Amino acid sequence: MKTNKVAIVTGGNAGLGFAIAKKLCAENIRTYIIGRNEEKTKLACEALGTNANYILHDLTDLSKIPDIIHHIKKKEGHIDILINNAGINMKKDFFEVTTSEFQDIIHTNLTSVFVISREVASVMQGQLKGSIVNISSMAAIYGIPQVPAYSASKAAIEGLTRSMAVDLAPYGIRVNCVAPGFIKTNMSSKALDNDPDRKHKVLSRTPLNKLGEPSDIAEAVFYYASEAAKYTTGTILPIDGGNSIGF
Ligand code: NDP
Repeated sequence: MKTNKVAIVTGGNAGLGFAIAKKLCAENIRTYIIGRNEEKTKLACEALGTNANYILHDLTDLSKIPDIIHHIKKKEGHIDILINNAGINMKKDFFEVTTSEFQDIIHTNLTSVFVISREVASVMQGQLKGSIVNISSMAAIYGIPQVPAYSASKAAIEGLTRSMAVDLAPYGIRVNCVAPGFIKTNMSSKALDNDPDRKHKVLSRTPLNKLGEPSDIAEAVFYYASEAAKYTTGTILPIDGGNSIGF
């Protein structure tokens, strides 16, 4: 069934972003993935089929974001869904993290989310409806070793979600957040596969005793993006096999 909805997924060429874009495309939502690696992004777009489009952009270049959003609005007439998924992480001893490394992670994971959300929300404001879904992490609430900037950026994303939810509610724009646990993508699997002790520790703390699938996150994101969540805003949903219960 055609929906005539338009979505944007940042970092949609891999991992969770690809799974989210796949779900949206399968629901017949025209989906723009934003990626910075040309080959990877084109291949992902091809694999997603006819509902997918791509835009090549490094989100740390904030100055071009308004033009990108203007381009999509001009082409489609409306933007209904924004998924702020792109993110980077770096595991490093606290004392070794340089100021510039700290700032790079905050810039990618937080500042670019604010800028793209502001631009998309100004389109949604005119429509008096829209849904924005941010991707946080368990690192927002847990003390995870050696990821200071990542943890700070994800805690800030949860604060940003609640603040935006209040500011944008008068315009019918809902803002929610999915907080994944350990999901099988490059970001998590590589780190855990290289560290079997840590993997064992993570699994022993996860009541469902397994890592999550990217599709587990995509289903939760789709719920928030859909009309099924029309009375839901400002919430944070952990999808983590029960890890955050404190088992
Ligand atoms: P991946 O590393 O597999 O994918 C990250 C995506 O973000 C890639 O498409 C990457 O593009 C894109 N990206 C990163 N920086 C930029 C940038 N400056 N401009 C444009 N695109 C960019 O990670 P995941 O799929 O695992 O993670 C997705 C989100 O989920 C992140 O926000 C992450 O923090 C969060 N998350 C993931 C968890 C997990 O277990 N996997 C757990 C908790 C949270 P490129 O390949 O070109 O770099």
